[in-house]
Amino acid sequence: MNSHAIPESARTILDVEIPARTPWSAIIRKGQTLRIVDSHGQQAVDTLFYRADDPGERFSGQETLRAQGSAYVGIGTRIMSNEGRTMLRVVADSCGLHDTSAGACSCESNTVRFGHDTKYLHACRENFLIEAAKHGLSKRDIVPNLNFFMNVPIDPSGNFTLVDGISAPGNHVDITADMDVIFVISNCPQVNNPCNGFSPTPIRVLVWDPPAA
Ligand SMILES: [Zn+2]
Repeated sequence: MNSHAIPESARTILDVEIPARTPWSAIIRKGQTLRIVDSHGQQAVDTLFYRADDPGERFSGQETLRAQGSAYVGIGTRIMSNEGRTMLRVVADSCGLHDTSAGACSCESNTVRFGHDTKYLHACRENFLIEAAKHGLSKRDIVPNLNFFMNVPIDPSGNFTLVDGISAPGNHVDITADMDVIFVISNCPQVNNPCNGFSPTPIRVLVWDPPAA
């Protein structure tokens, strides 16, 4: 299914704008669907997921790749935990390119990639730490993450490069929870590479309950 419409009988329980560069998190209950809208286009949205009642179970990029036999994320992707269970599923996607390989930006990696003067720029890792702390999590809980709307093509020899995003204004991805999860977002603040078109912008997040039976 690649429907842009929210099911008519579904009750929308949340509709928020996440300002440029900022983090966000919420508990998403089993059966609820979360939509991320790339409102202005070319905006990388870094995400992490933890099982709500036992955050030791958390997103695993390796398990996710293994489960679907692909390095890319799209409709039908099962987002897997480190215990091999499905945490969430991608049920709609109007963009078509998301990244599982390139991880999150940090002050440290900015320094290595772009020079020491970037050390004081805000980065996704700081965003993740701010939100993780709200759920009793800390530095050790920040694991490699999944990046929606970030374009990181892998060439035939296995190398990958972060290039201009193809996500157009209004593109969205819908993700349905298979268990209660802590859903953490960093609306990426990076300004030194093309992942945000060099200009971070706000995104919109909606959450709705499953359609009434
Ligand atoms: Zn980032």
